[in-house]
Amino acid sequence: MSGTTLQRADTDALTSGLTATSGRTRAVIAPFTGDVLHELPISTAQDVADAAAAARVAQASWWAAGWAHRREVLLRAHDLLLERRELLLDAVQTETGKTRGQAFEEVFNSAAATRYNALAAHRVLRGGPRRGGIPLVLTAEVRYRPKGLVGVVTPWNYPLSLAIMDIAPALAAGNGVVQKADDQGALSILAARRCFTDAGVPEALWGIVAGDGEEIGNAVVDAGDYVSFTGSTATGTKVAQRAAGRLVPSSMELGGKNPMIVLDDVDPEKAAADAAYGCFSAAGQLCVSMERIYVLRGVADRFIPAFAERVASLRLGTDLDYTTDVGSLATKAQLDRVMAHIDDAVAKGATVLAGGHARPEIGLYFVEPTVLADVTSEMQCFAHETFGPVVAVTVVDSEAAAIAAANDSEFGLNASVLSGSRSRGMRVAERLKAGSVNINEGYRASFGSVDAPMGGVKHSGLGRRNGAEGLLRYADATTIASATGLLQLPRTGAEFRALTPAMLLLLRTLRVLRRR
Ligand code: NAD
Repeated sequence: MSGTTLQRADTDALTSGLTATSGRTRAVIAPFTGDVLHELPISTAQDVADAAAAARVAQASWWAAGWAHRREVLLRAHDLLLERRELLLDAVQTETGKTRGQAFEEVFNSAAATRYNALAAHRVLRGGPRRGGIPLVLTAEVRYRPKGLVGVVTPWNYPLSLAIMDIAPALAAGNGVVQKADDQGALSILAARRCFTDAGVPEALWGIVAGDGEEIGNAVVDAGDYVSFTGSTATGTKVAQRAAGRLVPSSMELGGKNPMIVLDDVDPEKAAADAAYGCFSAAGQLCVSMERIYVLRGVADRFIPAFAERVASLRLGTDLDYTTDVGSLATKAQLDRVMAHIDDAVAKGATVLAGGHARPEIGLYFVEPTVLADVTSEMQCFAHETFGPVVAVTVVDSEAAAIAAANDSEFGLNASVLSGSRSRGMRVAERLKAGSVNINEGYRASFGSVDAPMGGVKHSGLGRRNGAEGLLRYADATTIASATGLLQLPRTGAEFRALTPAMLLLLRTLRVLRRR
């Protein structure tokens, strides 16, 4: 079986959830078949303004309804995501071209992020007392209030999980949302939003718009009291500047050139299987997947052949079931970019250890998982993100050389260490400059740990999603402090003169007592 189980009636029902009144549509191609999947209605800047205004109105009562109400609604949404998983899996596979297994990762992550934020929001954001600056004389309390409206811009590659990891905490914290979905992921996120609205999230609270990145994306960025952007470093830089121009805070989840270090104490076969998954999940169209492998010389002659053999054995296909290992690229632009990186590397002397070719007989945009050796700094794939199924393997002489090579990048999103020893893996992990490091996994250990922050350093981003950090970004802290009246603070020069010795004694005492 291949292609799509989504019928015209399904796509029409889903796109009716968009705020889009231009009357214009854009044809979306299904990557598995090359056919037009549906005509996506296009929004106008006025639609964004209308969706934002409606979400602001809905937000007031959503916040007033309280923590327990939001928790119960979001837990129901979690249950509906699981109940309706077959539709979600079909939508994700059909729109993005990924395998059923990787589509399932999206459903898993979306449900986990929804559950986590439903259950964690009150604990993280309930506020409470802090220490007053002078014991017994000053008291302080913190209150968290939602930002109001969060503008969310999402890419096509993980249309469910990347959106829900930003939107579930926004809703749990009491905000409204206006989201720009990517053309190639709109059906998937509209199907997920239906789970939330059927669970009790007011329709207007979470508006979704679609259309041109520049026009509609900018309108979303201009509408929010906070902006969550996921996409390329080039676009993210512009979005962060635009938000900062209004003094609106933002989180930027951007690109990567993620390294994996293979230490010389690994089981080569197991390491080869783990590396192949970490590199070629979603055909490498995953911000946190691996594009550089540094393998220690002591294991290189056993790991590299095992890795090449494992990669060559991966099954490519378009089936809407669990029979395939690697799916399609999502668009022609992706195909052109990936083939340009492979052709450039080969022309400049790289050695192809596995793959290297497009596979149009399987599907229009299929490319074999490709392993390259002898990659040098003149080649595009050396330092630039390919965002496709291409990995460069380099042999290094020592752990220190592997760490230096891994850190020698403008990016710092994710990294991986494969080792037979967890403590040795940890020692290396602590020296890697990345927002996340996975030991004996490519990306799923951190990606699936929704209680822990996720994000990038250097050109890979700003801010964090997931964990308490992912909730706190969506709230403003107000400190309410008071003078108890036990001691009048000095207001005149004479009062300062009288009280200064006591204040100095107090500071020294607090220091001795190590009171924070
Ligand atoms: P992209 O930057 O081209 O587009 C991302 C989204 O931004 C799309 O919805 C697009 O329409 C919109 N957009 C485009 N121009 C805009 C503008 N001027 N203002 C506002 N929005 C605009 O990225 P892409 O090609 O869709 O996604 C691939 C990139 O995203 C890769 O670099 C990948 O590493 C990165 N990514 C990062 C993460 C992460 O969590 N760090 C996750 C997934 C993808």
